[in-house]
Amino acid sequence: MFATRATPLRSLGRLAAQKKFFSASAATRINLALTPEQLELQELARSFTAKEITPNAAHHDRTGEYPSEILKKAWEVGLLNTHIPEAYGGLGLGVLDCSLISEEMSYGCSGIQTAAEANGLAEAPVILGASDALKKKYLGRMTEEPLMCAYCVTEPIAGSDVAGIATKAVKKGNSWSISGSKMWITNGGKANWYFVLAKTDANAGPGKAFTGFVVDANSPGITVGKKEINMGQRCSDTRGITFEDVEVSDENRIGDIGKGFQLAMGAFDVTRPLVASAAVGLARRAYEEALKYSLERKTMGKPIAEHQAVAFMLADMAIGVEAARGLVHKTAWLRDNGERNTLYASMAKAMASEVANKNAADAVQIFGGNGFNSEYPVEKLMRDAKIFMIYEGTSQIQRLIISRAIIDNAKKGIF
Ligand SMILES: Cc1cc2nc3c(=O)[nH]c(=O)nc-3n(C[C@H](O)[C@H](O)[C@H](O)COP(=O)(O)OP(=O)(O)OC[C@H]3O[C@@H](n4cnc5c(N)ncnc54)[C@H](O)[C@@H]3O)c2cc1C
Repeated sequence: MFATRATPLRSLGRLAAQKKFFSASAATRINLALTPEQLELQELARSFTAKEITPNAAHHDRTGEYPSEILKKAWEVGLLNTHIPEAYGGLGLGVLDCSLISEEMSYGCSGIQTAAEANGLAEAPVILGASDALKKKYLGRMTEEPLMCAYCVTEPIAGSDVAGIATKAVKKGNSWSISGSKMWITNGGKANWYFVLAKTDANAGPGKAFTGFVVDANSPGITVGKKEINMGQRCSDTRGITFEDVEVSDENRIGDIGKGFQLAMGAFDVTRPLVASAAVGLARRAYEEALKYSLERKTMGKPIAEHQAVAFMLADMAIGVEAARGLVHKTAWLRDNGERNTLYASMAKAMASEVANKNAADAVQIFGGNGFNSEYPVEKLMRDAKIFMIYEGTSQIQRLIISRAIIDNAKKGIF
């Protein structure tokens, strides 16, 4: 019996070796151990969050005030712009390192974490594709001063449909003239510079139509819209930005003309794991708040944690945190080890954002009437969680990416 079972496995192994079915298979590769340096980094982010973020989160949520002072302190201790390479004055941290930071900061307040991480999003295409001189100038300044930057891709007419954006850049001598409207730009009103994706060839397909630029925020022709009042993450600064014949030197072009789409999307392999880890941070906070409350609150003569209906909700919350974090660490580890992680970045983003929403809603349920009230921390978590399923690609877009990848692989015989 064992022999017959073993035979197909052995022949599958041979087939795998012959056809490279599983060689470099991302599905089976992972090392979960954190290094002493990573544990130290996690502890730094955790203690910073406990001291600077968690106690101030309710104030920034209530007032919508941008957390400038907290971000300045985070920059001082080295928790901002963490993946800027050492060659440009940064720490050059890996995606797994950065995911430890974003989980901790988001545990304290995902609005403040989003403001911090928007820098990483704008910097990612610059790190991927800019010239050495451009990197020195714009990444270098982020390490010299506590500045913010922003990633300008979405437009009022196109979010998920990135190929549908209409902002255009027209070459005029040795510079470009950029015109168009961007929408929902995080750090829009606080940024020192923008990453801007613009159409440079009206007739080409997405892979050749767009080019990325670094644009100084104080350039003539830029109008920054009002701060949007959002459901959650209310202290994060989200705005529309209009570009009217904004002149940008050709030196500020990122990479080759026509390669902007690849840069803007390529950034997500680094940043989606970090959005996902921030969602894990929120999910963990919801779970821990609910667990503590359920041990204190009594009904029918015992803590509500001892009612099985509540205990099982807590169990599901714990499962969600662990499973989502596992997927985040896996996609981060793959990227840090030089493997393509796009599929797993989408899986982590979709799963973690949905776990965050479920845990936040369940925490409100476990808090009962108190959960619905702003004196307690969990209603904020429920409002804050929703955006994780929308920005950096909605849950539907993540499933589009995942389904295309698995179906394409299946057609090639790869499972
Ligand atoms: C607070 C906030 C901060 C943001 N920060 C930034 C930023 O810094 N920079 C930036 O460039 N953008 C930013 N965004 C924009 C964000 O990435 C987009 O809102 C998001 O990608 C969705 O695009 P949309 O709003 O145009 O929705 P749409 O694309 O119009 O989608 C509407 C609905 O249709 C679904 N849908 C769309 N297409 C498909 C499809 N093919 N298959 C299945 N379902 C589909 C979507 O999932 C969604 O449910 C931010 C948005 C918000 C709200």
